Amino acid sequence: MAESKSYDVVIVGGGPAGLACGQYSARAGRKTVILEEMATGGQTMVIDQIENYPGLEKISGYELAMKFEQQAISFGCEIAYATVQDIQRLEDESFVVNTTDGPYCTPVVVIATGAKHRNLEVPGEAEFTGHGVSYCATCDGPFFRKKRILVCGGGDSACQEALFLSKLSDDVTICHRRDRFRAQASLVKAMQESGIKTMMDTKVLSINGQGGKVTSVTFQNAITGETFTQDYAGVFIFVGSIAQTQLVPQCKKDDFGYLATDSHRMTSVPGIFAVGDVRDTPFRQIVTAAADGAVAAHYASEYIDERVGQKY
Ligand code: NAP
Repeated sequence: MAESKSYDVVIVGGGPAGLACGQYSARAGRKTVILEEMATGGQTMVIDQIENYPGLEKISGYELAMKFEQQAISFGCEIAYATVQDIQRLEDESFVVNTTDGPYCTPVVVIATGAKHRNLEVPGEAEFTGHGVSYCATCDGPFFRKKRILVCGGGDSACQEALFLSKLSDDVTICHRRDRFRAQASLVKAMQESGIKTMMDTKVLSINGQGGKVTSVTFQNAITGETFTQDYAGVFIFVGSIAQTQLVPQCKKDDFGYLATDSHRMTSVPGIFAVGDVRDTPFRQIVTAAADGAVAAHYASEYIDERVGQKY
């Protein structure tokens, strides 16, 4: 059996929230490890260019993620590449995080596993992600200023993001597979009043491009079966997202499946914190994820002092 390792703070997930948490926690003198399955950086890695991270004019997602990682390591945070299998809570309220690299013992677990956007799963979507296909209007919208933009989806996210994009371009179309939006009526009304064109009962069949960039989208009318192609420079996909909460079924979630947290970023289970896209926050950005990490690290440290103290 693999020997267990002891840490003050074990962070599950090495995206911006997890890395920022690791940095703050290690800098506060806590023995900290980030457990990452694949590569650090999370969804940041797929962003071509970031121009809204405060203090950095323009930077690629990869470069920013590497800076996050290097800074965390420079303060003594460890990064271990392992898959977390489960998290057990012991009688003394500490945890054993079982991984493919053996067990990790800790009084504090920070869940930074993120949320995966749901894909449309049409030809061209994966190929042009970061080159015309985007899942984040705030991040990538400005690259399509005054260009023809398509938004896919019919929920609150699609309508809200379409409204954001309509401030950058007066040629925004939203396409939804049904005859009515799922989004709140007020958002739909605001969207319609803003001049956004709507294409109902319309499915995306493929996203097409040339020279490594999106140039058009092929649709099918769900009623008539007719197919047609229109030119677009940017395709923003908001067809729902899936919070990665499988490791903590005991923690309370909000109505949308995100982990419910208090102002300290603590979940309903004492000692389990949640940061970034996996938690119940209405605005998901790299900067808000990083801020979550800092907040959780601060209160995790306080939690260790106040509630665990000598027990650990
Ligand atoms: P959502 O409510 O689950 O909506 C997803 C939309 O994508 C639905 O309209 C759905 O169509 C469509 N869709 C799903 N799979 C598709 C596919 N394969 N092809 C084409 N269309 C597809 O997701 P969301 O908009 O991201 O919102 C998530 C939750 O957060 C929601 O409960 C929402 O209310 C909440 N939210 C709230 C706010 C706010 O209060 N301002 C803002 C954002 C999000 P159908 O309608 O046909 O199923």
